[in-house]
Amino acid sequence: MSTIRKEELLKQYFGHTAFRPGQEPLIDALLQGRDVLGVMPTGAGKSVCYQIPALLLPGITLVISPLISLMKDQVTALTQAGVAAAYINSSLSYAKYVEVLRQARQGAYTVIYVAPERLTTDAFVSFARSAQISLIAVDEAHCVSQWGQDFRPSYLKIAEFCQSLPQRPPMGAFTATATNEVKEDIVRLLGLRDPLTLTTGFDRPNLYFSVETPDSKNAWLVSYLMARQEQSGIIYCATRKNVEKVCADLKRRGFTATRYHAGLTDEERRTNQEDFLYDRARVMVATNAFGMGIDKSNVSYVVHYNMPKNMESYYQEAGRAGRDGAGAECVLLYAPADVRAARFLISNSDENENLTEEERAVIRERDLQRLVKMAGYCKTTECLRHYILRYFGEQSPLHCQNCRNCRASMAEYDITTEAQKILSCIVRVERKYDFGLGVMQIVRTLTGSKDKRILELGLDQLPTYGTMQKVEGTTIRRYIDHLIDRGYLTLTENKYPVLHTTEKAKDVLFHGEKVIILDRKQPKKAPSAIASDAAYVDKELYNALSALRYKIANLEGVPAFVVFSNATLLDMAAKQPVIQPEFLQVSGVGNRKAERYGEQFMQCIREWRESHSS
Ligand code: ADP
Repeated sequence: MSTIRKEELLKQYFGHTAFRPGQEPLIDALLQGRDVLGVMPTGAGKSVCYQIPALLLPGITLVISPLISLMKDQVTALTQAGVAAAYINSSLSYAKYVEVLRQARQGAYTVIYVAPERLTTDAFVSFARSAQISLIAVDEAHCVSQWGQDFRPSYLKIAEFCQSLPQRPPMGAFTATATNEVKEDIVRLLGLRDPLTLTTGFDRPNLYFSVETPDSKNAWLVSYLMARQEQSGIIYCATRKNVEKVCADLKRRGFTATRYHAGLTDEERRTNQEDFLYDRARVMVATNAFGMGIDKSNVSYVVHYNMPKNMESYYQEAGRAGRDGAGAECVLLYAPADVRAARFLISNSDENENLTEEERAVIRERDLQRLVKMAGYCKTTECLRHYILRYFGEQSPLHCQNCRNCRASMAEYDITTEAQKILSCIVRVERKYDFGLGVMQIVRTLTGSKDKRILELGLDQLPTYGTMQKVEGTTIRRYIDHLIDRGYLTLTENKYPVLHTTEKAKDVLFHGEKVIILDRKQPKKAPSAIASDAAYVDKELYNALSALRYKIANLEGVPAFVVFSNATLLDMAAKQPVIQPEFLQVSGVGNRKAERYGEQFMQCIREWRESHSS
């Protein structure tokens, strides 16, 4: 297939001028009839890899996807772009289901999305055997693997279904999960034949990464959101309880926040998700139950209120920001207690009940190792992007200039005196009591807290009581963390972990060893999510275009990003097209959308220009 034709289609239907890395080889292989496995991070553009072949191949492309809630939007987006598409899942009434199959038999659709459970129903099997199916794309292919966190038993039936067709079409499997176990499972369990396996760069240059350690996460969140009221974002919490608390707090302060977790009714989950999708609620507070395949492209920030259990989850969740390529932020709010909570959960996990105790122990060990890497991310002073990419086995420059650590210059601080105070406080506690004390109590003792428990225990009688009165509690906690990392202190592993000094602590207390901590100077101000692109764009014009988009989306009953993505609006505001050929130059504008919306947006630009011409 000629390159020109593919690129023409990419522009004509989807409005993109060039393929992204990985897209073209995967498309070519599928067109040549070869199976493929595409491993690309969220937002890299996996859909194009099967949608372009779908347009070029004669028959139907089946897209198997577990994300029922998304299918409608995906089909709407394709239809808007001029591709005949339909979906089949449990949300259709029986009559509608029969109607879709009837139309499909008559060749009405180029692309059909289907939920895996539907593949094996009699009506569908009989349809599939008589129809011309040219390509089968399996989205979120990691769902076939028990190693992945999203295992779906119905995915195990896909291979059988494909074999049962009169002629097995080429298959494309797509996922954002890169580990070898999962990749091997996908090839084996989906029955891929000598697939072209392509893993594309995991870097997402438009994402800004940051780890913050605020004294109060809530206060931090409020001031962060105040500065971003016009933008949409997700706040991930580790527990349902936190979701409830954070969401209620934000609502009380007047933010349009909504919530999502597995404890809500289906109905409420659906409503809340839609409110977020349609920008009626700007902030989604959720557990990790929210999101697989959230296709909202204008998410400008993802904040993690708690640290996730591993880097895979973190990168997948954070990656839901900025899918349209516009600048977006990923902030993790770190507190050492998050690590302890996660360790506790892993050690006491009773998931995987079908496994033997030995297998469970292996998984637990693996999960603990992953947790260590995740905690390392929160504490590292090196480039955060470099840390992430190295974790996923990719080479990358040592500095990205688009993360907090690169923006802040680091400095070495000598904290020997502070370390001596902390260590001697703990030594004295060890001498005086035969039980140890937790981090909190030690911090309170050092800051001279009048807390009832401290006084009851007589900690105010220790000579080290109040010796760090002028230092903030969070700073002392960070120092303690550092002393644990460096092996001067240990924290026991039980339900109420307590601190103990090690042999090595004596070097600092008595032998003049210095303790140095590498810490950030105050960072330069991080840009707001769209600032990097917006430098060339008039904010007022952008807002006017965005308001028009919102109006149109409401009238048509589709989410705003289905009309145009943020990246497209930014480019439009920068290029300010007023005639159709100019409008077609805007990134993300294809023929269909230019015809459909061009006039309204250009009118908006003309009016803005006139009001600014004097
Ligand atoms: P994934 O499924 O990999 O998470 P999508 O297929 O949803 O990603 O694509 C993410 C975004 O990238 C969409 O907004 C899409 O329009 C955009 N995109 C895809 N391919 C290209 C391309 N070649 N050039 C520019 N943008 C693209």
